[in-house]
Amino acid sequence: MIARIVLDLPLTTVFDFAAPGLGGDAIGRLAVVPFGAGKRRAGEPTPTPTKTQIGLIVEMVETTDVPPEKLKAIIGLVPRVAAFTAADMALFGFCARYYHHPLGQIALGGLPPLLKLAPTRAEPDRAVRVSEITDAGRAALATLPSRSVAQRSMLEMLAHGPVAEVELKRRHLRATSTLAQLVKKAWVVVREEAASNIPLKHSADDGFFSPHSLNAEQQTAVQAINAAHGSFASFLLSGITGSGKTEVYLHAIHHCLLQGKQALVLVPEINLTPAFVRAVSQRFAHANVVELHSGMSNVPRLDAWLAAQRGEADILIGTRLAVFTPMPRLGLIVVDEEHDASFKQQEGFRYGARDVAVFRASNKLCPVVMGSATASLETLQNVAQKRFTQLTLTARAVAQAALPKIDFIDLNIERAPDGITSRLVEAIRDTVARGEQALVFINRRGYAPALVCAQCAWMPECTRCSARMVFHRGGGNNGGQLKCHHCAAQRRAPAACPKCGSHELVAAGSGTERVEEALEAALASSVPAVPPIRIARVDRDSTRRRGSAEKIFSAAAKGEVDVLVGTQMLAKGHDFPKLTLVGVVNADGGMFSADFRAAERLAAQLMQVAGRAGRAELPGRVLIQTRFATHPLYQAVASHDYNKFAQIALAEREHAHLPPFSFLALLRAESRNKEALADFMQQAAKDAHAMRGGEDVSVWDPVPPTLARKAGFERRQLMIQAGSRRSLQTFLATWLPMVRAQKVHAVKWVIDVDPQDV
Ligand SMILES: [Zn+2]
Ligand SMILES: [Zn+2]
Repeated sequence: MIARIVLDLPLTTVFDFAAPGLGGDAIGRLAVVPFGAGKRRAGEPTPTPTKTQIGLIVEMVETTDVPPEKLKAIIGLVPRVAAFTAADMALFGFCARYYHHPLGQIALGGLPPLLKLAPTRAEPDRAVRVSEITDAGRAALATLPSRSVAQRSMLEMLAHGPVAEVELKRRHLRATSTLAQLVKKAWVVVREEAASNIPLKHSADDGFFSPHSLNAEQQTAVQAINAAHGSFASFLLSGITGSGKTEVYLHAIHHCLLQGKQALVLVPEINLTPAFVRAVSQRFAHANVVELHSGMSNVPRLDAWLAAQRGEADILIGTRLAVFTPMPRLGLIVVDEEHDASFKQQEGFRYGARDVAVFRASNKLCPVVMGSATASLETLQNVAQKRFTQLTLTARAVAQAALPKIDFIDLNIERAPDGITSRLVEAIRDTVARGEQALVFINRRGYAPALVCAQCAWMPECTRCSARMVFHRGGGNNGGQLKCHHCAAQRRAPAACPKCGSHELVAAGSGTERVEEALEAALASSVPAVPPIRIARVDRDSTRRRGSAEKIFSAAAKGEVDVLVGTQMLAKGHDFPKLTLVGVVNADGGMFSADFRAAERLAAQLMQVAGRAGRAELPGRVLIQTRFATHPLYQAVASHDYNKFAQIALAEREHAHLPPFSFLALLRAESRNKEALADFMQQAAKDAHAMRGGEDVSVWDPVPPTLARKAGFERRQLMIQAGSRRSLQTFLATWLPMVRAQKVHAVKWVIDVDPQDV
């Protein structure tokens, strides 16, 4: 037999290999194959292939055009990994057609690295630390005082059987110290055990799902989703922060598990949502909950993937890449914060996890639930066209929590020398004086977006990108650093202007560092004096180390931080019960971008960040510094009416014939060679025009993107706009082979279907 195999290569080729002893049931299996010619060894007639790759068997046939002397045989099948199912293969096939990307890269690109690294070597069994309750522990459980909450809940969990340490940590907030206390009392013993001996928890037993009571709206939503079980249906669950979306997800997941099915939950950024993961693990104490995201180390990532693929995991929570994880019993997909830009992969295989999730649900006949307070305009249009059912939650879960009051500080009138007005500083001071917390949101990290020579207006630019260097002070006394936010370039800030020699270099504009510094200075010198205020900065620089973001957030949740200053990382779902004031320092930047989605993103971000204020019994307030307070976008935000904004924005999009009223694809190309790039784009445009793809396909001229040069590469893009998905796909299917045929090696290019950033 001949196995037809795709590899993780930028080629659409399917390779033939001899596969003696294999039959049709090998389709969907991963195989190790020799690939690439090895060195010719002395005395041997033919080169011995030294390189191997893993590939996916897509077809088994009896004949091949490859001459026998050139036909190589597969080395073996990857053990431990069951065949991808027909549904998995259909998902890969759909993506290959829709995104015009090689099947091999789609199927193999997202696999756990360990699966690809040493596929033939048998893995040694790992030792895992396991905790087990003792007889004394069981006896203690009966008499333990109720105030020992942490110890009790851990003992209760262990009473059902031994649990791996990693599992304890996932389910308990301070697992290490609680476990140490239990061991000291001899209520629990910790021993090492071979990983393969640990029984897998797999049970849809609902004994440990502790349902919280639902309000009428939540009940309606849960009923609608549950009624769709076993069939394809798409839902938009729309509700503001605190309206109880999570509880709806949990009930729907519960129903799904009771039917013996698996649930897939996609979240924007898992490191920012540890509380969500913990909530799911705790509420389904008997289910097997696994996480999957690219930040995981190799072994747990492989374990999680295998557990999902074998059907052993009940709930998989992951980032966009998890949308491809095989799940044979899949019964429900949840996409939380569906508007989030991180669901679109921005390099290589540029898929949109939201759209892939919908395809997967339709193919697997299960419901898909998109959750958001600020749904994407694409999803809202799907609701308008009755492709999605909208389920709305209006009530805030905590009854007393009213919506925060939103006011504007007019930057045409008030000065903001370091980015922050004195009115905002005063509001922060008053808030902290009352024992409450404030959050200052600024969508720019670093100290200042530019450094300017006051004499000759020289500004440092990145030598590799068409962008200014951002000035970072970084707290040190080294005079600061210049960093490019588009490539890794970094250099020391000059003491004098290299052009005119002037020492008068001025930081222009402000970022998180500058606002933090200005706030510290203003509060220290404030009259009447206030006790020292604890400020924490949250941006990519301050949270580079693993777990540091969670550390800051948990300190803030405990009330150990008075003021948080940070970027959109703060907009995500953290709950700070004493947070009553949100200040937005510079929102206007997002309004005048060349990207037609900028306003949508800004509105979503402002609504999210405003939702942080006043979540418990304390009323919240939001102050937005802007020059354009009367703009419809800000007015919609002020009245907490995202729908109003969305209606205006949708009307604008329809008028301009932009998505969701048209469908786009972007040919993105880059090269170090400017002439080769220009020629390539000209030819691609010429081919496209020559095709006359029908009346509803327009071909735009090749243009440089906003960042015309990145890391030494010149960049150009060409947009195709179509009236329907079908006509866009028909056009691409004919045009892309012509683009591919150019074979210009100096130019790298990709096709981006449904691009997010244009
Ligand atoms: Zn100068
Ligand atoms: Zn750069």
